Amino acid sequence: MFIKTLLNEDRMPTSWYNIVPDMPEGSLKPPLHPATGEPVGPDALEPLFPMSIIMQEVSPERHIDIPEEVQEIYKLWRPTPLIRAMRLERALDTPAKIYFKYEGVSPAGSHKPNTAIAQAYFNREAGIKRIATETGAGQWGSSMALATEMFGLECTVYMVKVSYDQKPYRRIMMEVWGAEVLASPTDRTNSGRKILEDDPESPGSLGIAISEASEDAATHDDCNYSLGSVLNHVLLHQTVVGEECRLQMEMAGEYPDIVIGCIGGGSNYAGLAFPFMRDKLSGEKEIEFLAAEPSSCPTVTKGAYTYDFGDTLCSTPLFLMHTLGHDFIPPGIHAGGLRYHAMAPLISAVVNQGLMDAVAYNQTEVFEAGVSFARAEGIIPAPESSHAIKATIDKALQCKEKGEEKIILFNLSGHGHFDMSAYDQFLSGNLVDYAYPEEKIRESMAKIPKMG
Ligand SMILES: *Cc1c(COP(=O)(O)O)cnc(C)c1O
Repeated sequence: MFIKTLLNEDRMPTSWYNIVPDMPEGSLKPPLHPATGEPVGPDALEPLFPMSIIMQEVSPERHIDIPEEVQEIYKLWRPTPLIRAMRLERALDTPAKIYFKYEGVSPAGSHKPNTAIAQAYFNREAGIKRIATETGAGQWGSSMALATEMFGLECTVYMVKVSYDQKPYRRIMMEVWGAEVLASPTDRTNSGRKILEDDPESPGSLGIAISEASEDAATHDDCNYSLGSVLNHVLLHQTVVGEECRLQMEMAGEYPDIVIGCIGGGSNYAGLAFPFMRDKLSGEKEIEFLAAEPSSCPTVTKGAYTYDFGDTLCSTPLFLMHTLGHDFIPPGIHAGGLRYHAMAPLISAVVNQGLMDAVAYNQTEVFEAGVSFARAEGIIPAPESSHAIKATIDKALQCKEKGEEKIILFNLSGHGHFDMSAYDQFLSGNLVDYAYPEEKIRESMAKIPKMG
């Protein structure tokens, strides 16, 4: 019986899909300059990104070619498998068919190298010598370390201090691939020094690390910044996942009724979902789109859809997106990743247009779903991906109740081999659900700037 679909190399996608030209008229709004409130032009991003990437960020083209050198490196692990989770189906006794696209087979163990490789390529083409970037637990930093190594660039990674101290393995991985890894906040940047002045013991946060990395890039000519999620060009590069998956579903003779993924900044979900959403936008198909997030950082389910900063220190332009406030930091006991305070503007717009839904889960139910999946299918999922698994299991059980043979497709964005201490906490009963951080969210939302 058919279990796994692999594409031949010669059928791999040669372009990325840009959803922007297919979005309803007026559904997207440009980023704004925080001081003037005027739309920022492409030139405002020039200190940080090469012009080729800026043009992708604002491109009206539906298809953008994947450069041959990028395609060649993708082939080190792509096409990734599309797998039918028959053992999970049986364990749930559901009439639904469950398929997953497995991105954990990349060298870094997640979908993130899909954009890291592309970004390193465009920066090298532009003559850049070094990339500065931030990382939380290390998924993005390790992907960028891999990518810069492949293109002969240097890499400086500002790693959130609490993760730097508690999760040495990802740091070592980055160092194996030749990156310099710093515990953020550092004393190398004005942003870092300012945070340390107020709180020398600061555990750091993604927002702070973003401020440091972007300052490093803006103040050094041969250095650019790179972001692992949220921005349009990052989501664009991830669509290689969905483009491949469309071909694989076709080979399997199937088409999904429901497309599921987890959302932190929104890139892996957009990567799988947007190439299918094209068929919903054109009116050709009815598809349900569902994304899962943690209840401790409920950006889409509880946040506001408004203009806010992308970083803690208010140095980025303002983006129209779902946000919990730019200085929101999820509670320390939260173990499952997906901690960013805001959501990709494109995902936010798609939600706002009623094209997709989101759901929030507590961490113990997420780990329970991850363990069930590992016991059925063998693969130990990243805790982030387990949010998608939880949503998939819930949908499959609904199908059982209603006797519906729906086809569910989800993105297994990465493996969990570096998350054993979180699994250990869960298995020993020490992982607890937090109360929804209502007070914290109210405080941070009060600081969202009033625009437009
Ligand atoms: C980073 C990461 C995510 C969250 O980022 P998105 O931009 O929302 O995809 C999800 N899963 C894994 C495995 C990750 O490393």
